[in-house]
Amino acid sequence: MARLLRDVGEHAWIGRVVRRLAAAPAARRVAIGPGDDAAVIRPGRGALLLTTDALLEGVHFRAGWASPAMLGRRAFAINASDLAAMGGEPTFALLALEAPATLPAADLDALVTGFARAARDAGARLVGGNLARGPHLAITATLLGEARGPIVGRDGARAGDALYVTGTLGRTGLAVRRLRAGRRVPWPMPPLRLRAGRLLAPLAHAMIDVSDGLVQDAGHLCRASGAGAELLAACLPVAAACRRAFGGPAAALFAATAGEDYELLVALPPRAERALPRLRRRLGCRLTRVGRIVAGRPVVRLLDRAGRPLAAPRPGFDHFR
Ligand SMILES: [Mg+2]
Repeated sequence: MARLLRDVGEHAWIGRVVRRLAAAPAARRVAIGPGDDAAVIRPGRGALLLTTDALLEGVHFRAGWASPAMLGRRAFAINASDLAAMGGEPTFALLALEAPATLPAADLDALVTGFARAARDAGARLVGGNLARGPHLAITATLLGEARGPIVGRDGARAGDALYVTGTLGRTGLAVRRLRAGRRVPWPMPPLRLRAGRLLAPLAHAMIDVSDGLVQDAGHLCRASGAGAELLAACLPVAAACRRAFGGPAAALFAATAGEDYELLVALPPRAERALPRLRRRLGCRLTRVGRIVAGRPVVRLLDRAGRPLAAPRPGFDHFR
């Protein structure tokens, strides 16, 4: 019989996880790791980046979509994506968990291990957290990060900048649509564009990660920058699976609004574009020109080949609509 959380109890479970995390090789910058009232870390000299994001059963995923280890990895990745979008890299992490008492303790073990491994793979450390009982699994991570170079926000895009996006769009959105319909398909992992973010940040006027859909996240960038954007549907790097499922303009429309891509959208001035040929090989992913920043109201228009606006039914994901 699997041991459930209610058999193990909060403190015994935490004690076990803390012992396991403490058994990992010591990190130079962790003075006191998990297990005390607070972690003590040695911050770097530069600016400190902070971000938090949650992964909630029943909201972001349903039971059975991913193994506990993959949920842990995913919780790390979606947070790291926000750091990548600023040109930062994760250094330390906190993990707050809610779980029902009937969850097998081994599932939560695997989730924490998945998170801690993903953190370590990215050069970061899980240094603390919390566990509480809740009706569903809820995974809230907080990441601290640093930037080796300049930090880039959403607000610096100017008319004349070109808009580029990393990787491809629509693959995860399509998988989520199928999973919601009850089909058993893999839920792709976020791509983790830390390297691309770090390399693009010094060149970029503005950057954002595409978590809620390209059109919607481009809108955030435009509002912060006080400019508009034109996206060319025919130029979007639509994922192959998405092309097969929809074909033609419908695939581009879906890819532009589906969300969960965790790619980077970056506004580059012309002189930065000239530096791209040398940079491309080092990014570790595709980088595609998808449109441009234009003067005027902060509106994002998705245009077809003839320059006519395509009607987007909804720009992307919204928790409350
Ligand atoms: Mg973001």
